[in-house]
Amino acid sequence: MAEELETAQIPPHIMAAMRERMKMAQRMSRIKHKIVVMSGKGGVGKSTVAANLACVLAENGAAGLVDADVPPGTSDEPLSVAQEIPDADGAVVVTTPQEVSLLDVRKSIAFARAVKMDILGVIENMSGFVCPHCGKETAIFKVGGGEAAAEELGLPFLGRIPLDPRIVIGGDAGKPFVLEHPDSAAAQAFREIVKKLRPRLKETKPRPTGPLAK
Ligand SMILES: [Zn+2]
Repeated sequence: MAEELETAQIPPHIMAAMRERMKMAQRMSRIKHKIVVMSGKGGVGKSTVAANLACVLAENGAAGLVDADVPPGTSDEPLSVAQEIPDADGAVVVTTPQEVSLLDVRKSIAFARAVKMDILGVIENMSGFVCPHCGKETAIFKVGGGEAAAEELGLPFLGRIPLDPRIVIGGDAGKPFVLEHPDSAAAQAFREIVKKLRPRLKETKPRPTGPLAK
């Protein structure tokens, strides 16, 4: 095959990168809804939010979520993510309640605009602290910054997720927190967020299944 003849001239590291891209494209094609989870800075618990959101979405039959590490404003990585996921439903921005969140959300918006991706909404993570012993909620950080940012920027606010120390433990153990502690305030928050998110997901287009399919 022509393909095989040409591979001889392609350097191994390029081949590896190409294979990686093809694998990702295959995985992506099986996912019904693609949501890119973004944050304007690190340390907001984006990966944890992505993992648990994916889990609740899957339970709802709306599986599929991409935890794309897209630090807005750095290199061409964001652009390549957008190219890999041209049919993404949109992006969810994860931020924290602090006052700087307006700036973070702004950065994410700028990125989403640059790659022509819709923003489905903003999630305020680490919003208050729920004591795992007595279940009492305390605002260890100022609460509401993410919501204020969403409002100011005209974006839907999807909800706040309280900090629960067990989230970190669950994340390390590999089992999503929402499955491990379905009755927790944080798990409840994830379910509420998915409820708000679902109507914003694109209608699924029937996928062509054969050479004659249109
Ligand atoms: Zn307590």
